[in-house]
Amino acid sequence: MPKSKQLGTQLAALDARFRERLKGDLQALETLASQLQEKPETGSNLLTEMRDRLHKLAGSAGTFGYAELGSRCRELEEKARIQMAADNPDHATMMALCSAIPSLRSLQQSRLTKEPELEPQAKTDAALVDRRHIGLLIQDTALGLQMSHTLTSFGYRISLYKKQPEIAPDTKLDALIVDTSPQGYNMLQSAPFAERGVNAPPLLVISSQDSFISRLQAVRAGARGYFTKPVDLPALESRLERCFNTHQGGPFRVLIVDDDTDLAARYKLVLSNAGMLVDINSEPNLLLEKMHTFSPDVVLMDISMPEYSGPELAQVIRLNDDWLRIPIVYLSAETNAERQMSALLKAGDDFITKPISDSALLTTVYARAQRARMVSEALARDSLTGLLKHADIKEQVDIEIERAKRCEQPMSVVMIDIDHFKKVNDEYGHAVGDSVIRGLSNLLRQRLRKVDRLGRYGGEEFVAVLPNCGTRDAWLILEEIRQAFNTLAFTANNQPFFCSFSAGISGCEGPTWDTRDLLGKADKRLYVAKHAGRNCISGPQDGPQKS
Ligand code: GH3
Ligand code: MG
Ligand code: MG
Repeated sequence: MPKSKQLGTQLAALDARFRERLKGDLQALETLASQLQEKPETGSNLLTEMRDRLHKLAGSAGTFGYAELGSRCRELEEKARIQMAADNPDHATMMALCSAIPSLRSLQQSRLTKEPELEPQAKTDAALVDRRHIGLLIQDTALGLQMSHTLTSFGYRISLYKKQPEIAPDTKLDALIVDTSPQGYNMLQSAPFAERGVNAPPLLVISSQDSFISRLQAVRAGARGYFTKPVDLPALESRLERCFNTHQGGPFRVLIVDDDTDLAARYKLVLSNAGMLVDINSEPNLLLEKMHTFSPDVVLMDISMPEYSGPELAQVIRLNDDWLRIPIVYLSAETNAERQMSALLKAGDDFITKPISDSALLTTVYARAQRARMVSEALARDSLTGLLKHADIKEQVDIEIERAKRCEQPMSVVMIDIDHFKKVNDEYGHAVGDSVIRGLSNLLRQRLRKVDRLGRYGGEEFVAVLPNCGTRDAWLILEEIRQAFNTLAFTANNQPFFCSFSAGISGCEGPTWDTRDLLGKADKRLYVAKHAGRNCISGPQDGPQKS
């Protein structure tokens, strides 16, 4: 069955379930109303129950398409609330409230049926395995060729264009890099740039102007990166990766905390259909366990639940330092701004008010999750290279050693160090040195597999962990990278210069080997390579050699 049809069927099933529930809910409200009408003096518990039921319906009915019913319930809920807060409840108001309840039944009929709003997004990992196709629209031939060469060594597939009409309308690009000089931004106003939807490939702009206005124009044209000439290519490549990486680390994980299981099921369906991984927690006392096991990027939190309030649960989550960065978004039938504010002051980051349209839900969750991922990435990663930091890459070595032992598979650890790097700093300055570090890290990231782990171990020293890869294969892979790095041109004072690195490789050589042994051995072999004249790789079988 096509995915959109499948979604339609699933939504219809949830709608049918809600319709059944609605009958029961309305019946219960009518019973409460007639009990209150008969014995108004015993009414405070009954009135509380009526308010709670109205509140719940106000939240859910609209989401399931019963907009009118939802807003009528909200009005009546407000009346019940005022009545409850009053020192001298007014008998006439109470009776009016009760007699309004049966009329809710007629609003069941006016349901707005709608097609699911969302196009299913079938994104497969396989698509990411292909080399990314980058369009370069650059008039300056020399710059075009240099960029094309460098980006090809980073593993991208490049199409170079001199003029915008050369880009065929059906060209599938993963990103577009445009040099706005000498034509300026006018070229970005014409197709295929003019109508850039959210799914348009990322646009990076190169300009010879370093001004606020020029940056603003770039942003207005939809740019997600801005680089002045001379272009720092490793920085440009990092930005490109960042644009692609929004989806890295697997699908966004969303935890819904809501006692209304039908409503939660509907949210889940909508979010899962957009490729997110969703779990529902309808038992708040199991919340902490769920936070640990599911490890969400975003928590969607109902405000009123029978035993606990949403803000209380949000505060409980915030007691754990590890969860401080996770956005908590309240899903609530609460429209009173003051009460919303007081919930946010306790904990939580945002509000979505029920009834919630599918696209509002999706946009809010997506934006929050994306931001949260970016922040966590930034915290866990080295700021210059975007690679794992020292402690984190060591932890990855631990994890992969355990996996290798468990699965009886080989694994390799590689220690890499840039040759004579001090000289680069001394001759061209620290900033140029930084761009060499970034250049090598980007190259390694591009050339290694997705399962490989890569970290910046120290200044100009990197560690790579290659699971299910023997030392001989690791050597072959690194040898290829070594040769590519030799040809990677860096620029200083408008002159190109080249660098090299040396590397040492170790693999598990016994059942008792641990991270220290592996890293120690790789380090020793790195020094063997350095002493053999640098720009070479030393592994267990071969000693240092160049192919
Ligand atoms: P070898 O071939 O033996 O590795 O020589 P080398 O010059 O590369 O090694 P050495 O360890 O003597 O020098 C490394 C230099 O790297 C020293 C340090 O100032 C520099 N460095 C460390 N971190 C950074 C950084 O983040 N940016 C820059 N630009 N330089 C750094
Ligand atoms: Mg060095
Ligand atoms: Mg060093």
